[in-house]
Formats: sequence, structure tokens, C-alpha cells
Amino acid sequence: MNEIRTTCPYCGVGCGVIARQDAASGHWSVAGDTEHPANYGRLCSKGSALAETLDLPHRLTEPKIRQRNGQLQTVDWSVALDQVAEGFRRTIAEHGPQSVAMYVSGQILTEDYYIANKLMKGFIGTANIDTNSRLCMSSAVAAHNRAFGSDTVPVSYEDLEQADLVVLTGSNTAWAHPVVFQRLVAAKERRPDMKFVVIDPRRTATCDIADLHLPLAPGTDALLFNGLLVALAKAGKVDATYVRDHVDGFEDTLAAAQSDAPDLETVAQRCGLPQKDIERFFDLFAATERTVTLWSQGLNQSASGTDKGNALINCHLATGRIGKPAMGPFSITGQPNAMGGREVGGLANQLAAHQGFNPADIDRVGRFWATDHLATEPGLKAVDMFQGLQDGRIKAVWIIATNPAFSLPNANQVRAALAACPLVVLSECVDNTDTAAFADVLLPATTWGERDGTVTNSERCITRQQPFIAPPPLARHDWWMLCELGRRLGFESAFDFPNAAAIFREYAAMTGFENTGNRDLDISAYAALSNDEYDALAPSRWPQPAGRPAVEPFSDGRFFTPNGRARMLPIRAQGPASALNPGHPLRLNTGRLRDQWHGMSRTGIVPKLMTHFSEPTLSVHPVDAARFKLRGHQIARLGNAFGIAYARVILDDNQRLGSLFMPIHWNRAFAQHGLVNALMNGAVDPISGQPEFKTMAVWAEPYPAQWFGFALMAPHVSVRESIQWPGDYAITIPSVNHHRIELAGVESPNDWLGWAKNHLGEAQSEADTHQWIEFADQASGRFRIAQISQGRLDWVLHITPDSRAVDTAWLAGLFNEQTLTADMLADLMVGKPAGPQEDRGPIICACFNVGRNTLVKAITEQGITDVQTLGTCTQAGTNCGSCIPELKLLLQTAATTTGSQEPV
Ligand code: SF4
Repeated sequence: MNEIRTTCPYCGVGCGVIARQDAASGHWSVAGDTEHPANYGRLCSKGSALAETLDLPHRLTEPKIRQRNGQLQTVDWSVALDQVAEGFRRTIAEHGPQSVAMYVSGQILTEDYYIANKLMKGFIGTANIDTNSRLCMSSAVAAHNRAFGSDTVPVSYEDLEQADLVVLTGSNTAWAHPVVFQRLVAAKERRPDMKFVVIDPRRTATCDIADLHLPLAPGTDALLFNGLLVALAKAGKVDATYVRDHVDGFEDTLAAAQSDAPDLETVAQRCGLPQKDIERFFDLFAATERTVTLWSQGLNQSASGTDKGNALINCHLATGRIGKPAMGPFSITGQPNAMGGREVGGLANQLAAHQGFNPADIDRVGRFWATDHLATEPGLKAVDMFQGLQDGRIKAVWIIATNPAFSLPNANQVRAALAACPLVVLSECVDNTDTAAFADVLLPATTWGERDGTVTNSERCITRQQPFIAPPPLARHDWWMLCELGRRLGFESAFDFPNAAAIFREYAAMTGFENTGNRDLDISAYAALSNDEYDALAPSRWPQPAGRPAVEPFSDGRFFTPNGRARMLPIRAQGPASALNPGHPLRLNTGRLRDQWHGMSRTGIVPKLMTHFSEPTLSVHPVDAARFKLRGHQIARLGNAFGIAYARVILDDNQRLGSLFMPIHWNRAFAQHGLVNALMNGAVDPISGQPEFKTMAVWAEPYPAQWFGFALMAPHVSVRESIQWPGDYAITIPSVNHHRIELAGVESPNDWLGWAKNHLGEAQSEADTHQWIEFADQASGRFRIAQISQGRLDWVLHITPDSRAVDTAWLAGLFNEQTLTADMLADLMVGKPAGPQEDRGPIICACFNVGRNTLVKAITEQGITDVQTLGTCTQAGTNCGSCIPELKLLLQTAATTTGSQEPV
């Protein structure tokens, strides 16, 4: 058994993973690393399925250059890199260094990030390098810097477990950071007195552990924390000694809070919450010394996200609850290496090693890198950068491991910007992202399982991410490509790195360069690691300075501001960036699902992860649904001036009235019009540059579909990638032995069967001989057609005038048949088997494929009342545990027999 320790490539929890290869079969499996301090062996549903993602479809395996006719041509690496270098060189010569840019990702490793920053900021001489982490947590970074003088996260997962009160605000931890949530659940089981407050407009799965849920009005978080500060002062809970010795700005901050949130009534009225609930939260916070406040995108993804972060931090500084065990403000990152990127200057307004654009840092970084080209002012942040592409300020951009055509706000405008840019270089592991369509040069990159370097998780823990499978022969690490560009631009010696270990050593040395403890980030103890020691590096939290003991940040009451004192910031709460109006009467919130990651390029290929939610959904309160004539399971159309999206309606009384929720994951590889980011107006926080994604004014209406349908495609046929499905709703759902495409539309082809033969008929079976069986009833609008090759099913298309459900699970089973019988062919046209079939319902437990109907049956027939027994009977929830909140909800629903919303 071959065993490699590495980390999960998804969220910022940064779980340790052990990849194991079976000696006999050669197959790899993954398990949680029981020794890793982030997860101690736990993995969520996404992490547990990692081994099923090792063989990525659509893998980009060769460098490619787009020709004048728009076609991509495969070229040698030297040709591709020469073209990139020539493009950058010519652009810089003609328009200066500010005319080029890089847009990178929290998915890449710290070593890749370091080289990208060294090249752009250190040698090309522009700080136009930003990261998709800008969309994730840059407001938390800005809040940290304003309050602490450094981007320091002063809390660990252990602090969370040991706290007596955990406030989770703007974070659906149960789905977005599941292993942290599992640790909290386990902590609560050990210490039942531990209290949880969840602050979120929606009642999410995280509320499963809430002693108190505050479903505040969207955008009112800063007001709530201003109110808390006022309440703490009134209750005499301000730590006057701590404030006197370590904090500036208390008086002004309290005065601003008092004017903003003078009393409970005001806070209750503006937050839209019962006064007694706010009072309970304030009392709990005031009475509980060991309090951690965890926040995430719910606060950060706002046009005033930095202020929200500071309003929260103010309460910890005023009470002295920071820098001590089991307390503090804890910004948890979305991406696996958002922290590593921050450390090496991944954001356009930072220099490497947590240094900034001030004269002393500029001088120090310039001397360390021995360069006289160092950028001396911040570059364009993500949204501005893509506006720069559109208005011509940026004429060449290299995008690394991210998909801005999908993930940036106002995505339709971003597509126009990419189309307008003369040179778009994309290094990626797959070739079918939305952004790939705009790339002039495509460079094949290594991916998880092949990459070699380090990542830093949300609690500042650095872990090796190790390779364990061979990449495609021509795939390369991003740091290697970037070094090649650096060498071609004339900076040979600065980019002469033989391996990732050498890059890490230089970065580690930089953190200790002229650092006498005056900068928070110091890992200089690693500057002299041998290659073998680097490979064996155990997970460790920074700082790790050389030659002096590591001090936990702020434990000595010292901050990294010029005078060593923390700063409280006067905050005046602001509302959302978009106003409701009669044409846009609803607020759209966006976020993650439990089993999906970002654009689904990895999680979307695992059929079991597609079963929890297989289509883009729009969660609507039943009262709003009635108001806007939206019906459960039907398709809704929603939009505003920036775009339109389509999603399947879920009636959900966990929504606030007037608020909708739609997940972020669907892009054009999976949905023709499921891109929710197209509806975001691009408003950004003026300090951090982070865009608002959480509360956008929209309209919503039923989609007046005239026909519905689905296609099932076998894996043994090669269907053209670029099929333009009729209708506005076309969702591709990878399944175990086929792809399903859910369809709905208003306009339809005149001749459905002809359309199918023309567009799907190109699907060639192995034997290239096929027959069609078909059924058409023009009057009723029912059409069915299937292609059979040598007795096997290639594909089937059903179109009906109504949305009546057809058992596609049974139909999909026909793909397993080597020869379809006459009865099966007949049933294929009817769309259902002659005999009865079991309907498991939508999948709740992705690990063991346990459906809702199976669970409800077990609960009702066997009188099950607890999760453990339900697990014993059905296996649900007995592996990763990610579905346990939903199992509890089902048990509660069964107990009250009030019925609940039916998921799709
Ligand atoms: Fe990966 Fe899940 Fe751990 Fe996040 S919580 S790092 S997605 S296993």
C-alpha cells in the first residue's frame, strides 16, 4: 500500500488527506488524516469523494494557441511560452507595465502564488495581479489590517471548540466548512452548556446547533454589532484596562455606534428582528468571556464588508476578548489557499510576506529581491482589473486556475471584457471552463494529486500538498510556467528555481528578512529546510521564526500598528448597494451547496455529489411564491438589468420573506442560463474592493415553458460538446452511467425528431451502425426518440407539453443492458417500466446514495427518532456526516408531521 499525506483542495478548513494506492489494483482511495490538526481524520462529502475526481474529463493536455479562424492549434511548450512572452514584452514596450495583468486563484499553491507575485510586482513592475480570493475574504483582510495593522487571524479551530459561546455570522458553516461544523457539533456533545448563536437571514443547516438564530434583514450586520457594542458598554462589560493599555479609538467608535444603534428598539426595528432575541444575544455575549465570533462570506461579500468586519472586531477589542485561548474574531476563508495567497502578496494591494506599499516595505522587498523594477503602488483589484480589460487599460492578461467568466459579478460584462482583450492567456487543468472560450493561449497545468507545494488554511496552518499521481506528460506546474516567462523576459537569475522546495525556502527567508518580531508573518525557521525536510514538513501554524520563540499573535497585547495598539473603527452601518423598487421587489442571496465546489469542474463529475442538488434551485418563501405565482418544482426566471437566470423553485419557509437564495455553482458547462453571478451589479466595497454577492435587487416570475423534456446520453457515445439545446432551461447532470439533460422551453423546433437526428444523431456508437425508434404525437406535443446501436441504447429524448415527472432512474438503467429486449424498447417509448419500481426520492446521503423517500419510510415505519438509529437502519450519515443536519430536519418533520418543503 502506497501512502501519501496531502490536503483537500476544496475549502479553507484545509483538511489533511491520506491518499492510498492499492498495490494489487493500482487504484487510489482517500481518507482523512487522523494526525492532521484541522480534521483529525474527518472529511466531508466533497473530501470523501476526492478519489473519484482523479480522472478529470476535458483535461487540457497540450499547450494550444488560438488561430485567426478561432480554432485552437496544439503547439510545443516553447512555442506557447514564446508567444506569451512576446505578447507581454510587446505590450509592456508599447503601453508600459500597467497594461498587463495576472488574475490568479486561491486554488493554487503558495509557491505558485509567490512566483506570480515576484514576477509581476518585483520584476515586470506592476501590482496588477489579483486573485479570486478578492471575491471571498478581502474585506476580512482589510478589516484585520485596519484593526490590527496586519492581516492576522488570531483564532484556531481548538479555540472554537473550547469557547463557551460561538457566534456564527454570515456563515453556513455546516455546508461551506463542514468539518469545522462537525468539530463544533462534537464539542457541543462533550460540553452541552456550550452556546451557539447563528446570525443569517436564512435558516440554514448551521442552525441545527443554534441556541438562538437571528434571521436579520439582509445587510444589517454592522448595525447589529454596533448595537452589541452599545449594549456591552451599557452593561459595564467593556474591559477598560485592556482598552487603556492596548486599544485606540474606543470613544469615537462607541459614539458612532451610539448614534447608529442607540437602543434595542432601533436595532430590532432596522434589523427586522424581535427585540427579545436581540436582547438575548447581547446578554449571552456580555456574559460569556470565552466567545469566538466566526464570520465568512455573508459579511465579506458586501459593498460595506470591511465595515461589517470591523464592527464585529470592535466588540472583541472593547471586551479584551482577543489573543487569549477560546476567544477572538475568526474570519474563515472560503478557498483552500486563500491564506497562502495573502501571505505572499496575492492581493493587488499587498506585497509579499504581509508587507504593504509603504516606503519601508517597498525598500525592503526591493532589496530582498535585488530588483529595481518593484511596483510602488497598488494595482487593480479584480473587478477594476476586468473593467480595465474592457476599456483597454489592460491589453494582456494571464489567468491562472480560475474562471472569471463565471465567478465575477456582472459576468456578461466580464465575458465582453475577455473578448475585448488582445491577449488572454489561461493556465488550467481542463479546457471547458467558461473562460477557456476566450483564451488566446491555453497552457496545461497540473492539478490536485499532481501539484507539489504548500497551502495555509484558515487557522494559519501550513501543510504540504504532495503529488501522488503522474500528471499528463505535457502538464506543468504553474510556478514552472511563470519562471519560464520570467526567464524569457530577461530575469533569468531571479527565476532560476529547480523545484518547489527552493521557492518555499526563499519565501520563508523573506518573512524573516529584517523582521525582529515587528511583522506578524515569520516562518524563517523553514528558510534552510533541505528538500527532504520540505517533503516531510509536518502541518504547523505560523509564526515559526528562526532563533526566537514563536508568540501567539496578540497574546502579549501587542499589535502590528506603528504604536503597537489595536484600533477600533467608528462604523456607520450602510444598507445594500442595490435598492428594491417596484420592478425589482426581491433580494437575491447566493452561496454554496453542501456537495459542490465553485464551478463544479471537479465535484460536478462525481455522480453521487450531483444527487443532493442536481439542478440550479431558487429557494423562495411560500408566501413570496404565492405573491409572485411561483410553484414548487416549476422553473422560475429571475433577473435585473444585468442578466437573467433560470432555476427550479424550492418552496422553503426557512427563507426570510422577500429574500431568495440561489447557489453559485452552475456555469455554462452545466447550464445554459444558470449563472447567478450574471445578476450581480459589480458594486464593490470601497476599501477592500470585494464585490457584493449577497443581496441583489431582482424580479422573479414563473417561466412560461410550453414544453418540457429530458435527454439521457450514454457514456459510450461521443456527443458534440457544443450542442445548443432548444429552450432556455438546459441543465446537464452527470450521473453514474449517463448524462441527463433537463430541458424546458417556450420556442421549440418545428420538427423535434428531425432536430434530434440532426443534433444528437451525430453521436456515434462504437460500431457506427444505429437505428432510431420514435414516437410523435404532434397534436398533444409528445415526442420520444431513442438511438440504438447493436442493441444498446445510445441516447433517448422525451418531450412533453407538461412537466409530469418521468422515472429517469429506470430509463438510465437501460444503459446497462447489452441488448435491449422488445419489451424494453416498448417501455423506452412509454417512459416507464411495465412493473412497479421503487422511488428513493432525492438523495440526502451522498456517501451511501440514500434518498429522502427511503429515509421517511424508515422513520415512519420503524418509529425512528434519532440520527444514530436512522444511520444503523439506512447507513445515512454514517460516513462523512455532512447530511446529519438534514437527517435531523427529517426526524423533526416526521415528529411534528407538519410536512415540509419538498426538495427537488
Ligand atoms: Fe475538504 Fe470538506 Fe475538509 Fe473543506 S471540510 S477541506 S471541503 S474535506
